Amino acid sequence: MMRDLSIVRRSMNPVLANLPTTIFDVMSGLARELGAVNLGQGFPDDPGPEDVRRKAADAVLNGYNQYPPMMGLPETRAAISEHYGRFHGVQLDAMTETMVTSGATEALAAAILAVVSPGDEVVLFQPMYDAYLPLVLQAGGVPRFVNLRPPHWTFEREDLEAAFTPRTRAVLFNNPLNPCATQFTRGQMALLAEFCVRNDVVAICDEVWEHVLFDSRKHETMLAMPGMRERTIKIGSAGKIFSLTGWKVGLVAAAPSIMKVVAKAHQFLTFTTPPNLQVAVAHGLAKDESYFTAMRDGFQRSRDRFTQGLLSCGFSVMPSEGTYFVNIDIAPLGESDDVAFAQTLVRDFGVASIPVSAFYAQSPNTTTVRFCFAKKDSTLDEGLDRLHKAARHYGLRS
Ligand code: PMP
Ligand code: GLN
Repeated sequence: MMRDLSIVRRSMNPVLANLPTTIFDVMSGLARELGAVNLGQGFPDDPGPEDVRRKAADAVLNGYNQYPPMMGLPETRAAISEHYGRFHGVQLDAMTETMVTSGATEALAAAILAVVSPGDEVVLFQPMYDAYLPLVLQAGGVPRFVNLRPPHWTFEREDLEAAFTPRTRAVLFNNPLNPCATQFTRGQMALLAEFCVRNDVVAICDEVWEHVLFDSRKHETMLAMPGMRERTIKIGSAGKIFSLTGWKVGLVAAAPSIMKVVAKAHQFLTFTTPPNLQVAVAHGLAKDESYFTAMRDGFQRSRDRFTQGLLSCGFSVMPSEGTYFVNIDIAPLGESDDVAFAQTLVRDFGVASIPVSAFYAQSPNTTTVRFCFAKKDSTLDEGLDRLHKAARHYGLRS
């Protein structure tokens, strides 16, 4: 045992050796173990669009199942270009400006490795998706944090002035924003773009929630902001676009000179992504607008059902503009520790959630707790039943 520990200290990479297991796996594991309703990790509990799944099944049985081209099947890259032209008004050359990766997670790793050298500073917004910081540190990057201000999770010019320095090489940001369930305003995007251009910085934009926006909101990609076309790496996820989160097919868009370098990182991370899934994603990306509208409407209905339920429990609910998530503030319950609250919820009341302090570099003891509402009505109602009991325990009217 002692020898094991010494080899870890001596030989293993400290960034990874000191990393806790991701909160998503922890909470899903607890949910399985305790038989809790899993409203933690973000995944829908319906099977996803049948035509897209059939396309993948057919490609497994009858298609070509050997290595596809390193940057993706030409038909998938053409579909990415067509899709973003149609939905976001950006013209992308399929062969030089698009790439397929194994999930947005791999795209994030490839983009960070492509941009960040040891000692480079990277601006990150907290709360931040939990993969960002370990990947930046692993590349030798130095994080500079901007803390978004609740309840609207905004930033101001002075926040960027404090975070950007002559050593800044990249800004990494997520819009629409998981876990806050908010969308940056056009003004905030313009401000960020202004700082990127002025400081000659690359923007790595995690836009995996681009299609999951509510109340007629439209996504605006950073690629289309003035001055950003030549300095933005846009990242999408077919898992989110088609409610098939296990598929791990990422979509990358960037100017040719930047893409060339990102592709170099990708070629030694995974090299390629399963061709059968790529065929199905190409089919899905070409779907008519009505598919995307129906998908959004379905999630919006679930958001409304679950939000109503939380309000009737007496919880303090923060607005959800997009993503699969809605947050509550537990401060009005007299609670100051979201991690402890999430543990009580899963162990004593049988509902798994995600404490938002998991999205900070050092736990700030936030009082925000995230729930995933992308579930069947019956799952949501069972969760709400249990949350009513929790609400009574915390002295709320319900
Ligand atoms: N970025 C964000 C903000 C996410 O929420 C997720 C997962 N939902 C990912 C990246 C990872 O996407 P993928 O599953 O395609 O790797
Ligand atoms: N993105 C998902 C979420 O926020 C989780 C993805 C994962 O488990 N890594 O819940």
